[in-house]
Amino acid sequence: MSRVYNFSAGPAVLPEEVLKEAAAEMLDYEGTGMSVMEMSHRSKTFEKIIKEAEQDLRDLMGIPDNYKVLFLQGGAHLQFAMIPMNLMKNGVADYIVTGSWAKKAWKEASKYGKANCIASSEDKNFNYIPDCGDLPVDEDADYVYICQNNTIYGTQFHTLPNTKGKTLVADVSSCFLSEPVDVEKYGMIYGGVQKNIGPAGVVIAIIREDLITEEVHPGTPTMLQYKTHADADSLYNTPPAYGIYICGKVFKWLKKVGGLEEIKKRNEKKAALLYDFLDKSALFTPTAEKTSRSYMNVDFVTGDKELDAEFVKTAEAAGLSGLKGHRSVGGMRASIYNAMSVEGVEALVKFMKEFEEKHRK
Ligand SMILES: *Cc1c(COP(=O)(O)O)cnc(C)c1O
Repeated sequence: MSRVYNFSAGPAVLPEEVLKEAAAEMLDYEGTGMSVMEMSHRSKTFEKIIKEAEQDLRDLMGIPDNYKVLFLQGGAHLQFAMIPMNLMKNGVADYIVTGSWAKKAWKEASKYGKANCIASSEDKNFNYIPDCGDLPVDEDADYVYICQNNTIYGTQFHTLPNTKGKTLVADVSSCFLSEPVDVEKYGMIYGGVQKNIGPAGVVIAIIREDLITEEVHPGTPTMLQYKTHADADSLYNTPPAYGIYICGKVFKWLKKVGGLEEIKKRNEKKAALLYDFLDKSALFTPTAEKTSRSYMNVDFVTGDKELDAEFVKTAEAAGLSGLKGHRSVGGMRASIYNAMSVEGVEALVKFMKEFEEKHRK
C-alpha cells in the first residue's frame, strides 16, 4: 500500500489515523458485532456517536448554547435553497458574490424573494475579496450571505463584512474548522464536510435558535425546514450515519492535535511555504490577489497551458495528486486542508522547484 499526497479540492484528504481507526472498527464497532454502516440510527450506540460528535464540535468551535448543530444531507447546494426558504422572513436578502458558489446561492435565493447582489468580484474572475466595510445593505434584508473561502479561486475573507447589524450567513465548506471562529458573529455557519472534515454526504449547519421558526416560505417541504431537524436532534429521518461517525473521529483528532489554534498555526505554516515559493518563482504565478489569499486552496499558473498540463501530469506520477485547477481558472490548485501534512506541502514545493529548474526560459 502506498498513499499519495492528495491535494484534491474535495472530496479530499482525511487524517490517516482516522482512516486506520475506521478500518479497524469496520467489522465490529466496539463489541457490537457490526459495522456502524449496518447499525440502526435509533440504537444507543449510534445515539452516543452523534451526541459525542456534536459535543466535540461544540467544544472545538466554542458554539454557544443558543445555537443548534444540525447534521443534514443534500450537499452545500441544498442549503442554497434551504437558507432563503427558511430565513427570508421579510423576503429580502443580500449576497456578496465572490465566486461561483456564492453566485449559485444568490441565483437560487432569487426564486424565493428579493435577492440583492451587494458586492461582486466577478470583474476580475473572482480573484479578490471586495471591500465590505460599507456596503449598501438593504434595510429589509433578513441576512447577508457570504462564501467565506472560495474553493475554486483560492480567495478567503480575512475580515468579515460589515453587515450593518444584519444576520451573517456563511458557507464555510472549504474552511470549516481551519481556524478558531467567533460563532456569535454569525446567524448561521454551514458547510459540506467533504472538503475539510469527512466523507461526502453530510452537511453541518450551526444556526442561532431564534432563526429556526415555523415561519418559512410557503410550500417548503418538511424535510427542508430547519425546525424539523432541530426538533428531532438531526434524527428526523435516517441521517448519513457512517459519515457522521467519521466526522466525529475527525473532531477527536482535531482535539488531540491541539484544537483550532494549533490547526491554524499548521495551516498558516503550510500556506506560507507555498506562497513564499510562488512569490519568488520565475515560472509560477499565484492567481489570487495577495490580501485575499486562501489558506486552504492555493491557485497558480505558469502562463502556458501546455506546461500547466505537463506539471499536473508529472506531479501525479510523482505521487502529488489532484493538482489540476478548476476549469474556470485553469492552471493548478493545491488544496492544503487540515489533514494535509507540512511534509506534503514541502514535497510539493520541492517538486515545483525541480520543475522550474527544468522549464524556466
Ligand atoms: C464544494 C463547495 C460547494 C458545493 O458543495 P456540494 O456539497 O457539492 O453541494 C459549495 N460551496 C463551497 C464553498 C464549496 O467548496
